[in-house]
Amino acid sequence: MVKRNPNFAKLQDGYLFPEIGRRRTKAQEKNPDKKIISLGVGDTTLPINPYITQGLVDKAKGLGTHPMYSGYGAEQGMIDLREKISNKIYNGKISPDEVFVTDGSKCDIARLQVLFGPNVSIAVQDPSYPVYVDGSVIAGTTGDYDKSKEQFNNLVYMVCTPENNFFPDLENLPKTDLIYICSPNNPTGACATKKQLKEIVNFAKKNKSIIIFDAAYNFFIKDESLPKTIYDIEGAKEAAIEVNSFSKPAGFTGVRLGWTVVPKKLKFDDGFSVNKDWNRVMTTLFNGASNISQFGGLAALDDEGQKEMQDTINYYMENARVIKETLDSMGIKTFGGDNTPYIWAHFPRQKSWDVFEKILNEAFVVTTPGSGFGPAGEGFVRFSGFGKKDETIEAVKRIKKLKF
Ligand code: PLP
Repeated sequence: MVKRNPNFAKLQDGYLFPEIGRRRTKAQEKNPDKKIISLGVGDTTLPINPYITQGLVDKAKGLGTHPMYSGYGAEQGMIDLREKISNKIYNGKISPDEVFVTDGSKCDIARLQVLFGPNVSIAVQDPSYPVYVDGSVIAGTTGDYDKSKEQFNNLVYMVCTPENNFFPDLENLPKTDLIYICSPNNPTGACATKKQLKEIVNFAKKNKSIIIFDAAYNFFIKDESLPKTIYDIEGAKEAAIEVNSFSKPAGFTGVRLGWTVVPKKLKFDDGFSVNKDWNRVMTTLFNGASNISQFGGLAALDDEGQKEMQDTINYYMENARVIKETLDSMGIKTFGGDNTPYIWAHFPRQKSWDVFEKILNEAFVVTTPGSGFGPAGEGFVRFSGFGKKDETIEAVKRIKKLKF
C-alpha cells in the first residue's frame, strides 16, 4: 500500500465551497419553488466579448489548416504575447524575458510553491485567497495545525482588519522568506496604496524576503492614484514576483491564461537568479499555455480588446456598486466594492456562517462566509459582483427586507 502524503491530512477548511454547495442544495430541497441566486463565487458570468472571441476562434480554426497549425510552443509563452504584456501592462518597465505566460495565476502560485520548496518560512494575509495557505500546506512548508490556536505552527498570519485598513502591521511582523500580498484583495476588497506597498517592499528588502504579489484584480482599479503593479514601487524588482491573470477582466476563467513576472534582479541568498530557476520550472513542469488561449490574450491586449475588457469590468463594478449601496443603506458596514468587485460586509458579534445561513434561508441568496478565508474573516461575509445584473438586482431587493 502507498502511504498517503501526510501534508494532505493537515489541510483545513478545504471544504468551504463544497460546504456552501451542500447548504445551498439543502435550502433548495426545503424550498423547491424558490430561485436561489448566487452572490457567492468569484467566477465570471458574462460571455467573452466579440473581438477577443475572434482571437480565440481564428487560432482554433487555424489549427485545422496546414499553414496555421502549431504544436508545442515556447514553454515561457509566445514572444509576441510576452512583448505585448511587457509594453501594454508594464509600459516596458518589465522586459519580455521577465514575463512568463501560463495557464493562470492559481496554477502559478502552486508552481511558485514548488520553486521555493518546503524549507521556506511564509507569511500570509489573514483573511486570504485559500491557495496561499493550502498550497503551502501541500508543499510541506506550514508545519502542523494547532487546533487550539486555529493556526499552523510555521505560518505567520498577517491580520488584516478594518483597524489596520486591511494592510499588515509591519512593525510587529517577524521576518519570513516569503510574504504573500494580494492587492486588490480577495476577499476584503482592499487596495494597497503606493505608501503601503513602498513600506512592504522596503520591509522585504531589509529582511531579504521575497514578496509574492497577486495582482489578479488589478484591471479593476479605478482610482488612478493606486498602484496597479508592485513594480510601480522603486526597488520592487529586487524583492517581488507578481502573478496576474486574464481570468476576470477577459472572462478567461475557463479559457485559462495568466502570467508571472520574475525580474532578473531577483536573487536567492547565494546570488543565483530566481528567474533562471523559474524558467526551469516552466520548461520541466509546464509545457506552455494553450496556443488558442494565447491568441485570445493577444486580442485582449489590442485597443479593441482592452475596450471590451473595460466594458466587462464596468458591468461587474456596477453590480458591486448596487450591492454596496444596498448594504450601506441597511446600516451594514462594508469595505471594498470600489476598486474590486468584492464587498466585504461586517456583521459584528455574529458568526459568518450564521449570517450566511440567514441570507440563504430568508433571501435565498448565496454569499461566502468570511471565516472560510481565515480566522480574521470571522464576522464578515463576502458578496461578489461577478453575478448577472438582473439576478444581482433581484438578490439585493430580497436582502433589503432582512433584519440583522
Ligand atoms: N488570485 C486571486 C486573488 C483570485 O481570487 C483568483 C481567482 O479567483 C486567482 C488568483 C486565480 O485566478 P486564475 O483563474 O488565473 O487561476
